[in-house]
Amino acid sequence: MIQLLLGSAPLALLVLLLCGCVSGGGHGTAYVDPASLSDDWRTKAERTDYAETDRYDECVDFCHRLAAASPFAHYTSFGRTGEGRELPLLILSSSQAFTPDTAHDDGKLVVLVENCIHSGECCGKDACLELARDILITGTRRELLEHVNLLIMPIFSPDSHERFGPYNRINQNGPQEMGWRVTAANLNLNRDFIKADAVEMQGWLKVWTAWQPDLFFDIHATDGGDHQYTLFYSATTGALVAEPVGAWMSETLFPNIIPKLEADGHMPFPYGSPRNRRDPAQGIRTWSIHTPRYSTGYGAICNRPSILVEAHALKPYRQRVRASYAIVQRTLEELNRRPDALREAVRLADEQSTERRGTYGDSGQVVLELARTDESEPVTYRAVEFVYRQSEITGGEIVEYSDQPLNVESKLYDQTRISKSIAPPAGYLVPPQWTEITERLEWHGVEFFRLARTEELEVDSYRFEQVKFPERPYEGRFAPSFTAIPIHEARTFVAGTAVVPLDQQRAKLAVHLLEPEAPDSLVKWGFLNVIFERKEYAADYILEPIAQRMLAEDPDLKREFEERLRADEEFADSARARLNFFYRRSPYWDQKYNVYPIGRLMDEGVLSRLRAEQ
Ligand SMILES: [Zn+2]
Repeated sequence: MIQLLLGSAPLALLVLLLCGCVSGGGHGTAYVDPASLSDDWRTKAERTDYAETDRYDECVDFCHRLAAASPFAHYTSFGRTGEGRELPLLILSSSQAFTPDTAHDDGKLVVLVENCIHSGECCGKDACLELARDILITGTRRELLEHVNLLIMPIFSPDSHERFGPYNRINQNGPQEMGWRVTAANLNLNRDFIKADAVEMQGWLKVWTAWQPDLFFDIHATDGGDHQYTLFYSATTGALVAEPVGAWMSETLFPNIIPKLEADGHMPFPYGSPRNRRDPAQGIRTWSIHTPRYSTGYGAICNRPSILVEAHALKPYRQRVRASYAIVQRTLEELNRRPDALREAVRLADEQSTERRGTYGDSGQVVLELARTDESEPVTYRAVEFVYRQSEITGGEIVEYSDQPLNVESKLYDQTRISKSIAPPAGYLVPPQWTEITERLEWHGVEFFRLARTEELEVDSYRFEQVKFPERPYEGRFAPSFTAIPIHEARTFVAGTAVVPLDQQRAKLAVHLLEPEAPDSLVKWGFLNVIFERKEYAADYILEPIAQRMLAEDPDLKREFEERLRADEEFADSARARLNFFYRRSPYWDQKYNVYPIGRLMDEGVLSRLRAEQ
């Protein structure tokens, strides 16, 4: 049986034909009976009984063919990888809203499903190719586009996908060969959402800011221990995400889709692991705290539900693909059933960000970090039988899992509290020389304007103390730790300084980028490491007479110096430290050393004036 679909936007007319392949006028398309689907429309995974997965070229070819065969799909690329491959994006829209502008105009929800951020974890890619085929070619899921425009990134990290081989995922049960974890530039994209060092992430941010998806999936496969579950899911539902969005996830989305996934036989569970692996009865701790370097934390501070899916790597590949398919399908069904619920949650969250500068509730504070609480609720944890035995290799004990289920009455620790928050300024001032920072503000869609002329402005800011650097890089960066001491001073900001007002949709994101104490702030990622370097020095024979004069002229300073000599042996033994004591207090000292160059503009009136004069 072949169905003919006539007309374009919206899907208006379905004509059922008994036989034959008929191409209708306009944007007509013929649906193919799933029972007589040719191999052209089956993924390599399907053709090989899930032993293998498509290579990058095959995947892109499949996407091209979907787009050529259906008027409701469009293939495009959102950039290039380090090695020069296209970053593929397949857009599904029954109203042919294939650009951000047309998608926003037609009022449907925009859903982004991103796969292969870790390319060895490719179940989402196969799931999405199958789903796109079922929507576009067989039409068996075509109703999923009624209220949704669907963006599919089948392979977010193509270079790593093509570092293809059988030895890339030691902890994973198939397919026979798969991609690698990190980009060709050795960057882990799932730590890169804030710093955006990878060209792939820079492309992703263009999609994110242009389309502003209402919901975002990031599909992985797990590492870690064995259990019965096929599918873990996770999202930031605590105070880091706007209340209407968090409430939609915990009250509408998960209560509606999880029972359906269970009924489908997929065994979903919140992403987490036993607090004590030897005794799951002691409780299961979920991994519900995600800082914005991860997809889930990043989406949260942009007021969007960001759902992490982790198919269980030890389950057969078919099961992982089907489970990944099912959670996307069930979510899209829910969105089509009640599209206004998410639309309203997102609209309200954005409105609150704009009006309250990203502050949470009545607190006047922006949430920077969450911590777990000791609250728990009873849960039956579906483990598998295990024993610990002596290892001949290590001499220690090693776990050995069986394939027998072990259901344990346990407790789920899933609650969070705010552990760090801050009262935001009216706006931030970023001097124009810090181009890597203003560039990232643009990439992240944070709005700012430039100072029309040089201004002396009163600002809050920070002086950094106890600055330490790690011995080794992390994601290619030497990320400092420090204590940020608040300061208030008048500073000169030159014309061209970026003024970042916080009465905007991306207010929380701006705070997380620019507030040093935020867990993934740009200064913590090492974007301002040069401010921690001393660039000017004093010769000791020049400083000596200056120090003598300061001692002679200031009895308080003399007392402080002598006190320090008595109390601090290390100081007393160091000629350099003793001279620096005076250097730091002299007008020759670099006043910008260890000082945050970004200002917190506290005065709303001044912000309004600057905005008017831009
Ligand atoms: Zn992963």
